Amino acid sequence: MLGRWTQAVLWLLLAFGALAGRAHAAEPLRLVPGNSQSSLTPFVAYYHDTNGTDDAAAALRRVGEGGFAPLPDGNTAFGFQSGAFWFHARLINQDPAEPRWLLLQEYALSDHIDVYLRYPDGRLWHQAGGDALPFHARSIRYRQPNFMLTLPTGQPVDLLVRVQSQSSMQVPLMLYTPSAFAELSRDAQLAIGIYYGILLALFVYNLVLWLSLRDPSYGWYLLHIGAFGLVLFTLNGFGFEYLWPNSTWLADKSVPLSICLALIGMQQFARTFLELPQRWPRGNWVSLGLIAFFVVFGLAALQLPYRISTPVVTRAVLVGVLWIAIATVVVLRRGYTPARLFLLAWAMFLLGTTVFSLLAFGLFPKNFFTEYGVQIGSALEMLLLSIALGYRYASLRNENERIVSEANVRLERQVAERTQALTSTLAQLEDAHGRLRDSSRRDGLTGLYNRSHFRDAFEQLLRDGQAAARPTTLLMIDLDHFKAINDHYGHLVGDECLRWAARCIGQALRPHEALLARFGGEEFIAALPGYDLDEAVRVAEQLRDALRSAPCESRGRCIALSASFGVHQLLPADDIASSIDAALQAADEALYSAKAGGRDQVRTSAPA
Ligand code: GH3
Ligand code: MG
Ligand code: MG
Repeated sequence: MLGRWTQAVLWLLLAFGALAGRAHAAEPLRLVPGNSQSSLTPFVAYYHDTNGTDDAAAALRRVGEGGFAPLPDGNTAFGFQSGAFWFHARLINQDPAEPRWLLLQEYALSDHIDVYLRYPDGRLWHQAGGDALPFHARSIRYRQPNFMLTLPTGQPVDLLVRVQSQSSMQVPLMLYTPSAFAELSRDAQLAIGIYYGILLALFVYNLVLWLSLRDPSYGWYLLHIGAFGLVLFTLNGFGFEYLWPNSTWLADKSVPLSICLALIGMQQFARTFLELPQRWPRGNWVSLGLIAFFVVFGLAALQLPYRISTPVVTRAVLVGVLWIAIATVVVLRRGYTPARLFLLAWAMFLLGTTVFSLLAFGLFPKNFFTEYGVQIGSALEMLLLSIALGYRYASLRNENERIVSEANVRLERQVAERTQALTSTLAQLEDAHGRLRDSSRRDGLTGLYNRSHFRDAFEQLLRDGQAAARPTTLLMIDLDHFKAINDHYGHLVGDECLRWAARCIGQALRPHEALLARFGGEEFIAALPGYDLDEAVRVAEQLRDALRSAPCESRGRCIALSASFGVHQLLPADDIASSIDAALQAADEALYSAKAGGRDQVRTSAPA
């Protein structure tokens, strides 16, 4: 649809242009009062001097012979051409108030421009210009080549312009009165100033961000806008005016060089911003290939003639920009959200460039927006890219924060798990330790306390009794004729009887809260806290009865058991350790006396 529409409009324009060109080519341009600016295009005829050898006299002869042709379809752009182009127009200044007119070549990159005026009296005036001459050779310090013409009132003057250039042959010539030019250049300068102001602000802003954030994307973005700004600066003629006014070599090479640099920056920035190496490795290789091409071609452009390098690089721009659009769409479809703003930015740039191209083809009317389409589009693009960078940075940071907080949660969980494991291990250890300690205090056969624990516990018991001023009594218990049981039934049965006796004594002592232990062999010892001698004797008698009334049952047999008891009440003493030994001795003596008295009886120690 669009293709057919475009074609139709193009054909119409071409037809109209051809008619217009033919109708006016021979007419002189009359500069009437009130008319302060005029395009020369409708009044110009041209001639291509393919060898570039003709001089002004030869060209004027050819004008006389009618050897100049109208501009093809009214178009002043001829593309890249060798040799020289001659343009002729006849001017008649009918405004006595404006003797001086400024001729402006509204394309900044032409190399050699020679302007001739032939007055009616045959006088020939000449001025040379173009960027093959140093910048100060211009009539007015202005980014585009310009020539101040003096036009006498009412007399026809022949204007001849010879252009020879390695760059594109574009010759849009304009005539301005000095005051009209001042106004025009003011407005243009302001618009362009705003544009470079935006670029500069973005550059400095992102430079600061780059220095503080150290995100390489910002660095490549800086290269991108820096180099792109340089391209437009060069194309607009500012590079020659402000940066290298005396270097005609740079004036020649700066366009392909800056374009290559901008394309490298653009590709590299897109690559890092879109994270192509991770998100689309194959696309990344294409980008790297393009970068390599621009690097090589940039170096080659130092040697190649302008008319070869510039057309190649101009086409490469299209490829590079389209490629970035493709990569953005691919990465976006793979779920990378920061690419959305990036795509919008790129669309702005493409839109601006398209509008500018449509203007160049004459499909759009010339107004502020179409004429500065590239500037507006690229300014919006850079602005959006700057926002996209911020957005990307924020999303990266959020992602990092999420990872860190997840790691923290995981760490905390692990620490809790480890702590729990440690606590339970400690508890197990504590438990094992307790059991070990307990088993070290107990007798393996009967489960009663052993002798060494009894000593410690008894000491504590005496201390408590002393503090509470209450008596403590010792019972020493020895089973009667135990050797005979062993001899008669065997040692294992003897063991069973020992256990039986221990249980029996333990049960009988339970109500008395006594401290009971196996003293050794078939001997037991019990301490009765708070019991005096008489009370203890009563308890001993209960024990004796208990033992006698409960014979040991072992393997279907009943084995009668009895025991002898020695009872001794302790007197409070200063030295507890020595009183323990004495008390044990006394109880043992009482026991001995029970044995001697015929066994199975209770005896108390002799009063001290
Ligand atoms: P008495 O009435 O004079 O106390 O006579 P007795 O046989 O009980 O005393 P004696 O001291 O002569 O013998 C103690 C015996 O106890 C000797 C030993 O075989 C026995 N005996 C000591 N410890 C154990 C033990 O752990 N298991 C068994 N089966 N017998 C033990
Ligand atoms: Mg004994
Ligand atoms: Mg015994």
